[in-house]
Amino acid sequence: TRVPRITLNNGVEMPSIGFGVFQIPEDQTQQAVEAALEAGYRSIDTAAAYENERAVGRAIAASGIPREELFITTKLWIQDYGQDSAKRAFDRSLARLGLDHLDLYLIHQPFGDYYGAWRALESLARDGRARAIGVSNFHPDRLADLVTHNEIVPAVNQIETHVFFQRTDDQKLMREHGVQHESWGPLAQGGQGFFENPVLADIARTHDRSVAQVALRWLVQRGIVAIPKSVRPARITENLDVFDFELTDDDMARIASLDTGRSELFDHRDPAAAA
Ligand code: NAD
Repeated sequence: TRVPRITLNNGVEMPSIGFGVFQIPEDQTQQAVEAALEAGYRSIDTAAAYENERAVGRAIAASGIPREELFITTKLWIQDYGQDSAKRAFDRSLARLGLDHLDLYLIHQPFGDYYGAWRALESLARDGRARAIGVSNFHPDRLADLVTHNEIVPAVNQIETHVFFQRTDDQKLMREHGVQHESWGPLAQGGQGFFENPVLADIARTHDRSVAQVALRWLVQRGIVAIPKSVRPARITENLDVFDFELTDDDMARIASLDTGRSELFDHRDPAAAA
């Protein structure tokens, strides 16, 4: 599968579907990433906090795929916020990944000294060590604040987005500021009866596709980047195979009705989440 790319606000191109490795144990990650690269994924999403960057690096090295074809994202964890510690954490992530630059470096959570962290990321972007920089889990108010009071506008905001939590207001604000919307949990981690949802199942039947493919295609048609996760090669392949069918306006409207407006997985507005 050839994956279409989306152009970020600094001109860097990002594949519209990538492979996420959250909760894949270190000893299974190399195999899973190799399966993804074999299936045609070129974008991999990891994080320092996932504790599997080394295995991602081994899969990249083993693949022999030219570095410029790959789009590698990792994320800065909260305890490393602040300007100096953020730069040191970036160096450690690069070393674990076995890379000399990243395609996208994200602030993982909007808690603590993320302003200091953002200034460190700005300098990494200016030095070209991160081709693009962005944030994750930023609600509209914090995103608008960060955009207004810093020099570089985040290229991406990676937030929980799926059929049950559609983030249309977030997307509108991100569009206004030129921030690309990226979905984490695009399959709602299988929660709330996701794979048995009758509306999704019915639409899937009409297109002779799976529920996962319908949900991912819906994100693609909204202009949202998605990074589904699986360790099973058949599902890894299935999740990328969404570029040769199209949901109708009626399908899109039926899916729009599934929005609950609430997080299914981790509510960053809950004060307990920041503790
Ligand atoms: P997801 O929504 O991608 O769901 C993954 C689960 O769905 C798998 O474990 C598997 O059980 C199931 N699945 C996958 N493909 C399937 C298929 N075709 N058919 C049936 N079942 C299938 O959940 P996720 O892993 O949480 O999110 C994707 C990625 O987003 C993560 O791996 C990670 O890279 C990123 N993420 C980021 C944050 C953040 O705070 N920035 C948080 C969570 C996840």
